Amino acid sequence: MESLLRNTFLFLSKNRAANRTAKKYGLRFGAKRFVAGVQISEAVTAIRELNAKGIVATLDHLGEFITTAEEAREATDYCIRTLHEIASSGANSHLSLKMTQLGLDISVELCMKHMRMILDVAKQYNNFVRIDMEDYARNRVSIEIFEQLRKEYGETIGLVIQAYLYKSADDISALAVYRPNLRLVKGAYKESHEVAFPRKEDVDRNFKRIIEQHLLDGNYAAIATHDEAIIEHVKQFVKEKGIPKSQFEFQMLYGIRVQAQQQLADEGYTMRVYVPYGDDWYGYFMRRLAERPANVLFVLKSLFKS
Ligand code: FAD
Repeated sequence: MESLLRNTFLFLSKNRAANRTAKKYGLRFGAKRFVAGVQISEAVTAIRELNAKGIVATLDHLGEFITTAEEAREATDYCIRTLHEIASSGANSHLSLKMTQLGLDISVELCMKHMRMILDVAKQYNNFVRIDMEDYARNRVSIEIFEQLRKEYGETIGLVIQAYLYKSADDISALAVYRPNLRLVKGAYKESHEVAFPRKEDVDRNFKRIIEQHLLDGNYAAIATHDEAIIEHVKQFVKEKGIPKSQFEFQMLYGIRVQAQQQLADEGYTMRVYVPYGDDWYGYFMRRLAERPANVLFVLKSLFKS
């Protein structure tokens, strides 16, 4: 039953008509729990509240899988505006983005052009831009773009690697020459068993493996998970190996395990919360429902409230 629900929400996450409708009606169906707001000002307020509690952030202007050059340019402008807003508000936040929002599906050249426009501004502010990893079809090209931009922009840019893919341990080995700042996650998309571990136990095992591998390589890891067992494993591992707190951070999503976020920050770990905002919330929200079908209860409750 759980896997049926998961697959249904992952299927729905790519429904373009539903996405268009959702944009028109603002944050609905309990999405407010996971999305900081439609306007940048709402997101900055949410970040300031986190910062006051000793938690840093990464801000994401929602959007993905766009198909026209105009939309890609508009999304690029939003990313740049977000960087300006972070700087002028004094908020402690990085930027996260999805390259399909910047035209990756139109052409690699267009996407690279937009990435450079964003990275120029980020560099000027000494800020950091993380490329979120999308589905398997875009995995190889995302890594190639990262490699090129890492050469051009150094530590301004980071990438995400997903533990559910068989190839990820090899990718981390190959990327180690760049000394990359990687966010390590389990993986949020629906992938075939030909490319991804179908069983949760195997994903969890590989997640621990790639976290250890990346940390032992001496590189910076952003460990993005709500999974208590993984977090405990990391705490033990770094203690045993003498890895300093400055070499890694924990990350969680806005609105999920808020108490655990605070506890990790209070324990002296860098805790970064991924704060999404904007009107393109539908696909992101569906993936959050897929991760935890219990969240559907929030949707049902919000339907009865409205
Ligand atoms: P799970 O085993 O899924 O969950 C462990 C426990 O965490 C659950 O039992 C539950 O208690 C809690 N939990 C997990 N999800 C939810 C939820 N939605 N609502 C409420 N409780 C929940 N994936 C990508 O593919 N590409 C990315 O670029 C990417 N970036 C991410 C950035 C951040 C900061 C985070 C935290 C996740 C990101 N993800 C990304 C998503 C990730 O791949 C997982 O889908 C997601 O984090 C759920 O896996 P988990 O590690 O939390 O463990």
